[in-house]
Amino acid sequence: MLQPVLKKKIELTKREVCDVCHGSGARAGTSPVTCPYCKGKGEVQQSQGFFTLRTTCPKCHGAGKMIESPCTKCSGSGRYPKKSIISIQVPPGVEDSTRLRLTGQGEPGENGAPPGDLYCDIHVKPHSIFKRQGDDVVCEVPVPFAQAALGCTIEVPTLTSNIIQVKIPRGTQNNEVVPIRGEGFPNLHGYGKGNLLVQVIVEVPTKMTSRQEELLREFAELEKKNVSPRQKKFFEKMKGLF
Ligand SMILES: [Zn+2]
Ligand SMILES: [Zn+2]
Repeated sequence: MLQPVLKKKIELTKREVCDVCHGSGARAGTSPVTCPYCKGKGEVQQSQGFFTLRTTCPKCHGAGKMIESPCTKCSGSGRYPKKSIISIQVPPGVEDSTRLRLTGQGEPGENGAPPGDLYCDIHVKPHSIFKRQGDDVVCEVPVPFAQAALGCTIEVPTLTSNIIQVKIPRGTQNNEVVPIRGEGFPNLHGYGKGNLLVQVIVEVPTKMTSRQEELLREFAELEKKNVSPRQKKFFEKMKGLF
């Protein structure tokens, strides 16, 4: 999540063409024989009245060939499970549950046909600090109540692992958001970048020195004569109830 371009190695087991029989499924020194049931056609015809029904040969399952003595390594399947390591490039700004298609990285095709594709479903791990919101990223930052009231500058981490200085304006309330332009996720469709949303969590002190408590009591004394705007609104609404 933090790197601009992420290269990731994944290990998976693919059924590769057996290196002993080279995919034929026949034991070394032997080769597959023409299916006697369908005579190599791979399908059988059955006549039912006016109709002729063609079905896949039940003996060779459509291959037209049969293996009399199967290869010991792959038991005649022509494939053998093999571990492979594939390097994938995770595009910046990728969203959870995105499916990446890796052309030609799948299992080999039947009868020498080109290999299929490999689909990789990306799952984005949750981060301890950042939460994704579209192209924006939300970062909750605790700010002591006195600092929120007076205004301050705080240090905030960004997705590119830089620490930036963010100005918290005077009188910032709990959950208020300070947006930092262009510090979010790059837009997958190339429409610039999202923003970093610094969400201020105003912290009320739980432990105070006697001096701090003294000052706060003094502050509270003054508050009585000076009702805060939110409180004022609340009281006005309360009066309206009766
Ligand atoms: Zn084999
Ligand atoms: Zn057959």
